[in-house]
Amino acid sequence: MLRQWFITFFILLAGSTIANAQEREYVLLIHGGAGAMNALKENPNKEMHYYASLDSALLIGNEILSSGGKGVDAVIAVVSYLENNPLFNAGVGATVSAAGSFELDAAIMEGKDLSAGAIAGAKRIKNPIKAAQVVKDNSPHVMLSGDGADEFAASQGIEMVENNMYFSTPNTMKWVEEFKKESEKNGTVGCVVLDSEGNLVAGTSTGGMLKKRWGRIGDSPVIGAGTYADNKSCAVSCTGHGEYFIRHAVAFNLCARVKYLKEPIQDAGNQIIHTDLSPDAGVGGLIAIDKDGNFAMPFNSEGMFRGYIYKEKGNDKIIKQVGIHKELHKP
Ligand code: ASP
Repeated sequence: MLRQWFITFFILLAGSTIANAQEREYVLLIHGGAGAMNALKENPNKEMHYYASLDSALLIGNEILSSGGKGVDAVIAVVSYLENNPLFNAGVGATVSAAGSFELDAAIMEGKDLSAGAIAGAKRIKNPIKAAQVVKDNSPHVMLSGDGADEFAASQGIEMVENNMYFSTPNTMKWVEEFKKESEKNGTVGCVVLDSEGNLVAGTSTGGMLKKRWGRIGDSPVIGAGTYADNKSCAVSCTGHGEYFIRHAVAFNLCARVKYLKEPIQDAGNQIIHTDLSPDAGVGGLIAIDKDGNFAMPFNSEGMFRGYIYKEKGNDKIIKQVGIHKELHKP
């Protein structure tokens, strides 16, 4: 009995594969960026806000999935919530480019038909993930950029804002000063879901990397690099140094390892994050779920804002945990 408890505890701690994953009705994972987070330990008040926000995001997704809602709706709702939360580097609170502008990237992909939509370098879209969705659903394209993305989103009734007025929060400006010193800003957001119909969906949204050259596009909106979903393998959302995630085609690479090599998702995630990439060449992490509900959340940085929630089949039990540093917690 005691032994069983310890095994369950350590598996939960790793936030990864559990033997009876097929017994899950749905699974939802989130991330809010990976990077240097040890300093947060000195600021329990700020840390608590992050934990509370991660928990709220999980509950928003759970409400949709528990009432039989679609994975794609859960991803849009969760990512929009995180975009509207200035603690994270997406939507309001997005980081600023070297030219002083806010340039937003986002993507969403559905595993049931490989449909995908993305926007890159958008400047006036309040919720980039919603614009990515209309590119997917209402255009013949996969990715729109810059003014073209803004214009298309506006024509689809997506809420638009003024670049400097809306995205520039007091927090953003404070972070810019802080991170000028530390040259890092975490907080890209992502969500992956396996819904009760067996559909996998992935979404990612970001302001990109602090002091990026204007016009620079990271991995988040690049299908196969920062975002990917395929019902035959997995759903993946990445965060970290985008240039490396693009070079290693991380999101697709993980799905390919699971599909073709039949690797457990946790092994595939560890191989990419801890061996292919490293803190020296490709700091970051990812969240991923496979078609059977197994999941992994590896990172090679000090920490990663993250969490998971799932419902067991045949009972009302909801299991959830959130984490920032190495260990996970029950919120
Ligand atoms: N991957 C994002 C980018 O390179 C940044 C991040 O996840 O922190 O744009």
